[in-house]
Amino acid sequence: VQYVYRFGGGTAEGKVDQKNLLGGKGANLAEMASIGLPVPPGFTISTEMCTRYYEEGERFPDSLREEVAAGIAHIEQVTGKKFGDAADPLLVSVRSGARVSMPGMMDTVLNLGLNDRTVEGLAAASGDARFAWDSYRRFIQMYADVVLELDHGAFEEALEIAKEDRGYTLDTELSADDLRALVDEYKGLVEQQWGKPFPQDEHDQLWGAVGAVFGSWQSDRAKVYRRLNDIPADWGTAVNVQAMVFGNMGDTSATGVAFTRDPSKGDRAYYGEFLINAQGEDVVAGIRTPQYLTRAAREEAGAKPASMEEALPEVFTELAGVFDRLETHYRDMQDIEFTVQQGKLWMLQTRSGKRTAKAALKIAVDMANEGLITREEAVARVDPQALDQLLHPTLDPEAKRDVLTKGLPASPGAASGEAVFDADTAERHAAEGKSVILIRTETSPEDIHGMHAAKGILTARGGMTSHAAVVARGMGRPCVSGAGSISIDAKAKVMRVAGREVKEGDTVTIDGSTGEVMAGAVATIQPELAGDFGTLMEWADEVRRLKVRANAETPADCQVARDFGAEGVGLCRTEHMFFEATRITAVRQMILAEDETGRRAALDRLLPEQRSDFAAIFEVMAGLPVTVRLLDPPLHEFLPHEEAEFAEVASAAGIAVDQLKRRAAELHEFNPMLGHRGCRLGVTYPEIYEMQARAIFEAAVDVAEKSGEAPIPEVMIPLVATKRELDLMKAVVDQAAKGVFSERGREIDYLVGTMIELPRAALKAGEIAETGEFFSFGTNDLTQTTLGVSRDDAARFLGAYVEKGIYAKDPFVSLDVDGVGELVRLAAERGRATRGDIKLGICGEHGGDPASIAFCEEVGLDYVSASPYRVPIARLAAAQAAL
Ligand code: ADP
Ligand code: MG
Ligand code: MG
Repeated sequence: VQYVYRFGGGTAEGKVDQKNLLGGKGANLAEMASIGLPVPPGFTISTEMCTRYYEEGERFPDSLREEVAAGIAHIEQVTGKKFGDAADPLLVSVRSGARVSMPGMMDTVLNLGLNDRTVEGLAAASGDARFAWDSYRRFIQMYADVVLELDHGAFEEALEIAKEDRGYTLDTELSADDLRALVDEYKGLVEQQWGKPFPQDEHDQLWGAVGAVFGSWQSDRAKVYRRLNDIPADWGTAVNVQAMVFGNMGDTSATGVAFTRDPSKGDRAYYGEFLINAQGEDVVAGIRTPQYLTRAAREEAGAKPASMEEALPEVFTELAGVFDRLETHYRDMQDIEFTVQQGKLWMLQTRSGKRTAKAALKIAVDMANEGLITREEAVARVDPQALDQLLHPTLDPEAKRDVLTKGLPASPGAASGEAVFDADTAERHAAEGKSVILIRTETSPEDIHGMHAAKGILTARGGMTSHAAVVARGMGRPCVSGAGSISIDAKAKVMRVAGREVKEGDTVTIDGSTGEVMAGAVATIQPELAGDFGTLMEWADEVRRLKVRANAETPADCQVARDFGAEGVGLCRTEHMFFEATRITAVRQMILAEDETGRRAALDRLLPEQRSDFAAIFEVMAGLPVTVRLLDPPLHEFLPHEEAEFAEVASAAGIAVDQLKRRAAELHEFNPMLGHRGCRLGVTYPEIYEMQARAIFEAAVDVAEKSGEAPIPEVMIPLVATKRELDLMKAVVDQAAKGVFSERGREIDYLVGTMIELPRAALKAGEIAETGEFFSFGTNDLTQTTLGVSRDDAARFLGAYVEKGIYAKDPFVSLDVDGVGELVRLAAERGRATRGDIKLGICGEHGGDPASIAFCEEVGLDYVSASPYRVPIARLAAAQAAL
């Protein structure tokens, strides 16, 4: 087996696609060398050697010694210098490099090969004794730190004392003789701490450094990083040994880092920093303030020191040529390290540059327009999840912030407003045109209207899948949840945090993307949905097969969804409509009624309200399908729970307090999630579904008459387990449709189908499809019922489950493809076997999750439905799934 791969001098043994073998750095050095870019010669010891090193008890096989010797000979031949030569020594750097860049790995050692003899040779050959002794001084310090792992504080102290004794402030004031004395001191420190003299033999130095790189693969820091990032231990790291080039040889030498395009905005402009007369990490280490690469960037920043374009114009032109060459070759934005030695440019590293979501979008669209990549590639390159950052208002990064505390970034976006501590006040103030932030210890379904009215939501308790978090994401409201250090006194209308008080009406700002909670207003920036965003979305639409709908239940949400490109509503929940202040009394009267007559009387009052709800939604969604789910939650959710509310509710509903309490107690359930809800309500009180169906069809006819464009209602029955349940409910819906159509003399196309959210329904899908004209996979409940896990209680243990690898990801965020997914697949197959053209969709939270969308594409569903703000994410993810 070959373990050593040479590069430089116009050729290379490795290639860019050998990252697994050569590590990212090694593969790219080889690639740059082979396309003729100026790369100092060197060689890469492969990751396979790392694995073998550990298999053989941390020893190197003899064959490696020969290969490394050949590698050194290669560098000697290209540079014309000899390793260990007393007259003009070859110096090398030793650099680690795994497949992916990984903190925790050994730091680079520069200037390796210097000793008491060769330092004199370097001084003579360069004609610069100061440079030679400074290089030796740096080398001992680095080697002692990263290879010998000695206490680096002692070395820094010695350097400080050397300067103080002579009255200097800068390192550069030290003369050659000063540095020579410092080297003696350093060698003494090594012997004292290590028990042996500093290695003078250049081969001992080299093997020590190579061993340290491999050794660092099993360091605690590296292990922790691997665990957190799912990097297997058997990948190993490679070692790169490369001829040194010197950016610290005077005013025509320099070192720098650059991006071929602006990594934060994506503009097509060279972007980077450099330092004249500096080495290695000096630029990033902040020893001196780095200078700009281009004149334009320097002028824009109003900075004085010359840019590289001005200070070293010829090398700059050459560097710009290399940037363009790299971009055409790699067909992506590159992140680069370079060094200039006495006017000669050397490339030391390149890799695909990290970038913000905004830059990713712009770069992908620009590169496709430049013809560098195809439109499909552009679509494939943008991480759908990252779009989330762009779809919401964000805080102006320039604005001042007075941070009170930090909670969980539960729903992205930023918002400022007056603090309010209950949903009713939120609704009232919002109606007066004020911006409000709803602050609650935690939220419940009764807070929905307040959450809707608020610009943002802040809770003291609850995780990323708490009620507040899920509902806020659904509504596209920014939310910070679980801000544990705040305490809320809702009665006194005050929140305390960090020794300060926020009272009702005080302005606060929350950033749901970072979890920050701030006092006062912080300026926000609105998202830009046209331009590159719009272009990429168009390209995504050209390739995707899955349709994308939205989960939306208000005309405003439907409008957002349509603006974001939704092709229908996949889930319109009707219970939120029942909570509206204007009709909650009628809802309660309906629930409290002793008999059907009483219920019907209350339902008659609700009918016009529901009709106008649906009409408003149908108008926005004209011409598109709208799936309306009939009432789903248990009825007691609509009744008061707190003693204080009983009297008020009783008098509003026109009954005695005792009677209300008795009825509420009757409706109490031990496990409401599995209780009297979903179609079970329709089975026991068909008149409720009858009213809702009538409202849907009357609204549909109204809109069709008014606008000429009929909506396509899809009436959805929730929580069905058996065909018989659906038969009964469909009969109620069809009856209502027939009634409305004959009264109005107009027919509307509609479908009746069911949610598949119980395992029995999935198993019996073949039978259920005889009646159901569509299935919508309600994967939130299907996950709860398949896993036997209540989402509201999962926070206590799910973290441990994910940590221990029992579930790869939170199954409420990303579909459990193996388990719940199998039920979806099976139900889809069985449903189609019965009814070839059955419409299949998904409407759980998973409908907006890219990994789950890929699964939906695989099983051939017709559409996914996501919350309005996730529609663009779903469009892009669906396109990527189809590629
Ligand atoms: P990292 O992965 O942390 O960036 P590198 O191996 O790239 O570590 O090196 C750290 C610094 O040392 C970089 O600034 C790089 O440019 C510089 N460097 C590495 N090898 C050489 C070399 N042969 N000649 C000059 N500078 C080098
Ligand atoms: Mg680097
Ligand atoms: Mg459900």
